[in-house]
Amino acid sequence: MTYEIFKAQVFEAGIIGAGGAGFPTHIKLDVGMDYLIINGAECEPLMYTDYEIMTHFSEELVTIIRDMLKIMGLKKAIWAVKSKHQALISHLSTLTSLDDNIEICILPNIYPVGDELTLIYKCTGIIIPKGKLPSHKKIIALNIETLYNIYQCIYEGQPVTYKYITVTGTVEVPKVIQAAIGTTFEELIKHVTVTIPEYDILLGGPMMGNFVSSDIKVTKTTKAIILLPRETVIYHKKRAVGIGSIKRAMSSCSQCQMCTDLCPRNRLGHQVEPHKLMNAFANGLLQNSNNLHTALGCCGCNTCSYYACHHDLSPAELMMMVKRELMKQGVKPSGEDNPKLSNNVTAEVPSSRLLDKLGLKHYDKHAIFEESKITSQVVYLPIAAHIGKPASPVVNVGDYVKEGQKIASGDLTRISTNIHSSINGVVKRITETEIIIERR
Ligand code: SF4
Ligand code: SF4
Repeated sequence: MTYEIFKAQVFEAGIIGAGGAGFPTHIKLDVGMDYLIINGAECEPLMYTDYEIMTHFSEELVTIIRDMLKIMGLKKAIWAVKSKHQALISHLSTLTSLDDNIEICILPNIYPVGDELTLIYKCTGIIIPKGKLPSHKKIIALNIETLYNIYQCIYEGQPVTYKYITVTGTVEVPKVIQAAIGTTFEELIKHVTVTIPEYDILLGGPMMGNFVSSDIKVTKTTKAIILLPRETVIYHKKRAVGIGSIKRAMSSCSQCQMCTDLCPRNRLGHQVEPHKLMNAFANGLLQNSNNLHTALGCCGCNTCSYYACHHDLSPAELMMMVKRELMKQGVKPSGEDNPKLSNNVTAEVPSSRLLDKLGLKHYDKHAIFEESKITSQVVYLPIAAHIGKPASPVVNVGDYVKEGQKIASGDLTRISTNIHSSINGVVKRITETEIIIERR
C-alpha cells in the first residue's frame, strides 16, 4: 500500500484521536517523520479502556505498527505502557522481540505521564517546544485506540462506528463496553449494576473529566464514565469552581509555588508558572503580559488544583480561563526551540497517592471486558465532535442507512473528518450539530 492510499483510507474511515481532543488522524500522518509514539499510558485513575484494547488486540496492534513503519518510512515505533501492567509488558516484549524498530517503553505509575508532551519526553528524551506540535520534532503520537481504529480501517474496511468505554465508579463490576457512537449514556449505564440509587456522572477521568447529565451520548472521544456519589472529594472540587476561585486566590494563596513545582509542563521547561498567575490575580498585576502568557502552555491536567495546592485553590481553572481568552484574541504560545528541563524534574505525582487524595481508592477495581456490542434504539451522531471543520451531511431525513455508511462528509485537505452511521436505521432528523438515526 502506498502512503497516499494509506492516508486517504484513514481519512475515509473518519478516524480521529480517540484519547484526547479529537484531532483528525490523517492530518498527523505526515511523511518525513522519524518516530511513532504509541500512547498506552492511560494515566487518569480508574480507567481500563486502553489496557483492555492492548490486552485483547495486541497482535492486531503489532501488525499495524509494522505496516506504518514501512508505509511511512518511520525509523522507530515506541510503545509506552505503565510499569504496573507487568504481564502485558512481558507479552508485548515477546511479541515484538524480533522487531528491531519496535521498542516497549515502560513508564512510571505517575500522573500525567500520558500527557502527550510528557510522554514524548519519557519515550525519546525529546522536548517539544511550547506551542509546537510533535511533528516539529518529526514525531507522530497516537493513542492506542486510534491505532486500533487504523488497523480496523486497513484490514477490515471498518470506519469508526463503535467506541470502547470504561464504565466504573459505584458499580458492582466495572466494565469496558463497546458502544455504538451516538448511544445514550442511559443505555450504557443499563449494562452495569449501580450500587446506589442516586449518583452523578463524570465523563472522562477524574482529573480532566467533567460532571455531565445522563442525556449525553457516546462520541468518538468518549473514554470513560464514572458514576460517583455526591460526597466524593472530586465532586466538590469540580463544583467549587467559578468566580469564587478568583476571590479565594486573592485571599488564600500563600505563594508556596507547589503548583508550579508539580506542573508537568513547567518540568519540560515551558515556563508554565501557575503561582505567578495566582499572584497576578491576587495583587492586581494582570497588566503584566508575562504573568498572563504563562497560561498558554497549560495542558489542563489539573495537577496544580487537585493535588498540589494545600489551600484547595484552583490555579488550573484560572490558567485555562486566561489561556482561552488569550487564544480568542489570537495570542499564540511561543517558547524556545530547545527548552531545557526545569530543576524540579523529580517532583512527580504517584498515581496511588493521587487516588488517595481524590478519595477514589475504594473505586479502583479492574474493569472486565464485555465482548458484545451495545447500542440504543436511537443514536445521535455528532457532526462536530472533532477538532476542525464540522462534517457536511450527505443523507436526508427518511433515508435508510446501513452501519458503516458515510452520512456526513469531511475534507481530506482540511482539519475535518467523515461521519458514518453506527447502526442500520432511518435518518429521523438532521440538526446543526447531529444526525439522529432510529434503528430498524
Ligand atoms: S500551591 Fe496553592 S497556595 Fe501554593 S502558590 Fe499555588 S495556588 Fe498558591
Ligand atoms: S493544569 Fe496546572 S499543573 Fe497542569 S499544566 Fe496547567 S498549570 Fe500545569
